[in-house]
Amino acid sequence: MSQDVRERSMAEEGTRALVDTTVVVPTVGRPSLLTLCLALATQSRPLDAPVVLVDDRPGADTRAPGDGLLDGLDRQLAERLGGPHGLRLRVVRSGGGGPARARNIGWRHARSTWVSFLDDDVVPDPDWYELLASDLLLAGQAVGSTGRVRVPLPRDRRPTDWERGTAGLETSAWITADLTYRRDRLSAVGGFDERFPRAFREDADLALRLGADHGTVVAGARAITHPVRPADDWASLRQQAGNADDRLMRRLHGRGWHDRAAAPPGRFGRHVATTAAAGLAVGGLLTGHRRAAAGGALAWTVATAELAWARIAPGPRDRDEVRRMLLTSAAIPVAACWHAARGALRHRHAEPWRGVPDLVLLDRDGTLVHDVPYNGDPDLVAPIDGVRETLDRLRALGIRLAVVSNQSAVGTGRITAAQMAAVNARVEELLGPFDGWYVCPHAPGDGCGCRKPAPGLVERSCAELGVDPARCLMVGDIGADVEAARAAGVSAYLVPTPQTRPEEVAAATRRAPTLGDVVDRVLEGDW
Ligand SMILES: [Zn+2]
Repeated sequence: MSQDVRERSMAEEGTRALVDTTVVVPTVGRPSLLTLCLALATQSRPLDAPVVLVDDRPGADTRAPGDGLLDGLDRQLAERLGGPHGLRLRVVRSGGGGPARARNIGWRHARSTWVSFLDDDVVPDPDWYELLASDLLLAGQAVGSTGRVRVPLPRDRRPTDWERGTAGLETSAWITADLTYRRDRLSAVGGFDERFPRAFREDADLALRLGADHGTVVAGARAITHPVRPADDWASLRQQAGNADDRLMRRLHGRGWHDRAAAPPGRFGRHVATTAAAGLAVGGLLTGHRRAAAGGALAWTVATAELAWARIAPGPRDRDEVRRMLLTSAAIPVAACWHAARGALRHRHAEPWRGVPDLVLLDRDGTLVHDVPYNGDPDLVAPIDGVRETLDRLRALGIRLAVVSNQSAVGTGRITAAQMAAVNARVEELLGPFDGWYVCPHAPGDGCGCRKPAPGLVERSCAELGVDPARCLMVGDIGADVEAARAAGVSAYLVPTPQTRPEEVAAATRRAPTLGDVVDRVLEGDW
């Protein structure tokens, strides 16, 4: 796609698509991404909704544009389709934080009512978009809608353990391979819990927080094909890492989470018993209790044989599969216990997920730029060190930014509105674009409702940008910023300057030395 076509497609994001959704695809750049894009580009009803690809390959600078991936896709799609693909593709980068984080960055870049998540290795049916349109119409007040998943299995033999595991997706509830949620509901719960590092349980966790166990997520008619990914001999052993995620589920949702999430109970209890038997055998040997050792060894052998047979019996029973099942069945119980213990330790104090704000409001003078009293001269605008980089970090995460500023110099006649506008334009030139500017031009004596510490500007910014005040954060350098935020129901950080009054510093519940430190803490959920 040429540069001007891309700019046009970006500009079109302001226009309404047929279906008011944004397709979000986290990707690690697998070749299957091209197959998915081809399927999206050849839908029975042309896909006019924006498609946000979240490049989650590790190491990439999240602030760099994702043009490399996009250019490659544009070229390959044009070759395969013999012309322009017509998709409104956009790439953002997440830098390897895992699928939960990548999906969060993706939906925060969306502006539509719905957000449609697709995995990068699925193939939507040709009428997927057409049916998505009717699924969402029929969804009524539902929070979300799931697609149907088909897992193709070999016809000439029985499926392997790994293939049967993937086929389980067909009957799983709320898997994110094809799931559409309302964006405002995603925002209200802070999106996916990024403490789930792999594509496991993060979908069930979000579904439970959105009330899916009370029927708020409905089943749609659209369908995708989810192929079985290639796997090596040890894939089932590595999957035991999911036991750590199960501990987080239990911490967050209580003991009954398996039932509420409609997740099969699994064999964890038996894995514990098998591991205990192995421990008894080894312990008995080491301490010379030969009967205990023999008993433990016998119990372990029986339990391991039972596990192996349970996995071999439904399968093809060929040599490779039997060898794979015997080896991994011996190791799986211990691995499961190890990962569960690791998860229990790691998540023992885990609090409910908070996510990051959708909107950060920033005071101008003393927070973004050095305070020059009553400044009407663009040449005197000097950004505070590191602010540009910090703002770009927030922009890359899809967090919106707005400036909230008192400019009484306009009301008192010291500077003109045009001079103020010139200064603001210079701020944008130096610090990058903001999603909104909210300025009180009144003099202190005017009795307006917008001059901070009054909450008017903060309330207006949230309302106009469509963000719940509870998902918004204010950052300023004086007490009036913090008070205005508090009065509007918005969290606030104080970043004091040498001019900030000591009592205002003392009164601030949250403060940090720099804007960069604020963002570090916000990303840890402290806001
Ligand atoms: Zn005002």
